[in-house]
Amino acid sequence: MKHPLIIAIDGPAGAGKSSVAKSLACQLNYLYIDTGAMYRAVTLKAMRAGIDLSDGRVVEDIARQVSLGFATGQAGVIYMDGEDVSAAIRAPEVSRNVSAYVASYPGVRQKLVELQQAMGASGGVVMEGRDITTVVFPQAEVKVFLDAGQEERARRRFEELSSQGREQSYNELLADLKRRDQEDRNRPGGALQCVPDALVLDSTSKSIEQVVAAILHVVHEKENQPA
Ligand code: C5P
Repeated sequence: MKHPLIIAIDGPAGAGKSSVAKSLACQLNYLYIDTGAMYRAVTLKAMRAGIDLSDGRVVEDIARQVSLGFATGQAGVIYMDGEDVSAAIRAPEVSRNVSAYVASYPGVRQKLVELQQAMGASGGVVMEGRDITTVVFPQAEVKVFLDAGQEERARRRFEELSSQGREQSYNELLADLKRRDQEDRNRPGGALQCVPDALVLDSTSKSIEQVVAAILHVVHEKENQPA
């Protein structure tokens, strides 16, 4: 008997987590949850409120007040207080502020982790981020750590932005990625790390389809095991 699983995927920015997670969710008919989008949405709300982002208490209050939701059947669409902010949260200023400030505050992490645990509680979910295999769902049936070389990740981001007509220099993107890696791997709570029982995949020279196939292989094994 197949039972709905929790698939937890962690890894650094640009490793391909979103494409892989979306494809898995679509093929398995699971819910896709991009937890980075939730940290970005809190950051956007705080930026719009014009507050000092280095004041953790005020940012934590904003996180407690915000209402976040994902559109069903539309992977990648996130609502903040009822507004579709899917595009606004991708602005470079949001990327800069999220890891430097907002994601480092314990009260923000606590609120978002609780929401994520509630969203995935009944299984049938693919959740991706930095602390999903360690904090949010350490008991997930399928845990994946998806990595890729730093320069390859910066190159992918460069091509993605260029294809959208948004120019940013490769060197700036690489520097931004290095800074975010450093912040994401070294924060006191919810730091990015690879758990011993994760399936470790490196997408540097693999296609999205190859990564998805490797994960699906494990999913099918687990789905057929008794719950
Ligand atoms: O996944 P994405 O790159 O959009 O995430 C933006 C930022 O949100 C990350 O650099 C990280 O600082 C933070 N984040 C986090 N925990 C998660 C997901 C994202 O701290 N589970």
